[in-house]
Amino acid sequence: MIGIAIDGPSGAGKSTIAKALAKDLGYIYVDTGAIYRTVGLYMQRKGVSTEDKEGIENNLPDVKVELKYEDGEQKMYLCDEEVSGLIRTPLIAKYASVVSAVPKVREFLFDMQRSLARENNVIMDGRDIGTVILPDADVKIFLTASAEARAQRRVDQLVEKGETVSYDDILASIKERDARDSGRDVAPLKAADDAVTLDTSALNLEESIAAAKKIVVDTLSKKKSESKVKTKDKNKSGFYMWARKYLAPIIKFCMRVKTYGSENEQESGALIVCANHTAMLDVLSLAVSFKRQLRYLAKKELFKIPLLSQLITALGAYAVDRGTGDVAAIKKTLSILEDEEIVAMFPQGTRHKGVDPALTEVKHGVGMMVYRSKADVQPVFVRVKNYKYRFLRKKEVIIGKPIRYEEFGFTNGGKEEYERAAKLVFDRILALRYEGLDK
Ligand code: C5P
Repeated sequence: MIGIAIDGPSGAGKSTIAKALAKDLGYIYVDTGAIYRTVGLYMQRKGVSTEDKEGIENNLPDVKVELKYEDGEQKMYLCDEEVSGLIRTPLIAKYASVVSAVPKVREFLFDMQRSLARENNVIMDGRDIGTVILPDADVKIFLTASAEARAQRRVDQLVEKGETVSYDDILASIKERDARDSGRDVAPLKAADDAVTLDTSALNLEESIAAAKKIVVDTLSKKKSESKVKTKDKNKSGFYMWARKYLAPIIKFCMRVKTYGSENEQESGALIVCANHTAMLDVLSLAVSFKRQLRYLAKKELFKIPLLSQLITALGAYAVDRGTGDVAAIKKTLSILEDEEIVAMFPQGTRHKGVDPALTEVKHGVGMMVYRSKADVQPVFVRVKNYKYRFLRKKEVIIGKPIRYEEFGFTNGGKEEYERAAKLVFDRILALRYEGLDK
């Protein structure tokens, strides 16, 4: 399970950003502040004073807090009553801040938070998620903003709701809550040593979400490549590398292949290269455009034709026996990706000659391969210019930026998710179609 921890002071935009990220990645969002607020509501209803630590501790065994998801929304239940709306008041915010400074309360809520992260991919926000609740979180973000910026945002929100508010009062209460949350002995608000700090003072919401998403995607993909055992790079030896170096430029010249975006080529790790497919020669155009060796599926029958068999083997083709169904092909592809090689696939399934690629159907198989292999995807658009001699048609290969596996936001797989992923891949391919056009 993947855990993403977002900590920071109140009003820094944690919940809005975490919610947006969770939706994007298909994770569940856990707002831990709401859990403390629910305990706070209980104490307030019981008439326990905010000064009365003992009273809070004594009442704790009777508190029944539950967190449920309804239509993807987190709902809080206090002793079987839904209280999600009732906990959003300044008084309960104060109670939450007070009860959360009581170690017994934190202990009481510890398991609940932990088990949510054990069973789900989560984005959890709070104050001590990266330090205490999920010290091994895959990504830790410390989201902050100046007290002034936070106060201004709060004022704007309230004014929008038609309330009259004083900026100074709000600023003062934010500063008071910050001081209480940071100055306390138990779980004080502070960034984990390995957290990435994101200051949103000068960013609007969209920019903040984009910045947080970038941290998540970069951190997860860095981790993934670090954890991969360096496999022997098959590309660095043998005939293929020789051919890549000496023959490819000649083939490129003769075949009139021009490559754009080589700087985007992902240089290591499992990768699925996905391109539109209009001509048989696409495979060759791709092969000579990439620095690494591409592997791709080819019909078993082709391996029976002399010369062609040697050529396609040298190019990295591997056979599928159509008779045994797709299972063998899937297994073989997965094992190649496991060895951190590149597999080229055509989401359109077969060649679509002379058809606008935007109008063709996309097969969901690519989505399934991405889900099962956890590989990143490199979108490529192959543009073929019309010319009477087919071999001499100008071919432009445009390599786009890789799509990180995490960007697909898979949850449990399934046809719908595969279709969504395949569509995302194909949209990125189509987005390249007019790039680098020769003027
Ligand atoms: O985030 P929110 O404003 O809803 O949190 C309410 C209060 O709960 C905070 O001021 C903080 O004192 C406390 N809290 C905490 N640890 C968490 C989440 C919230 O101490 N993980």
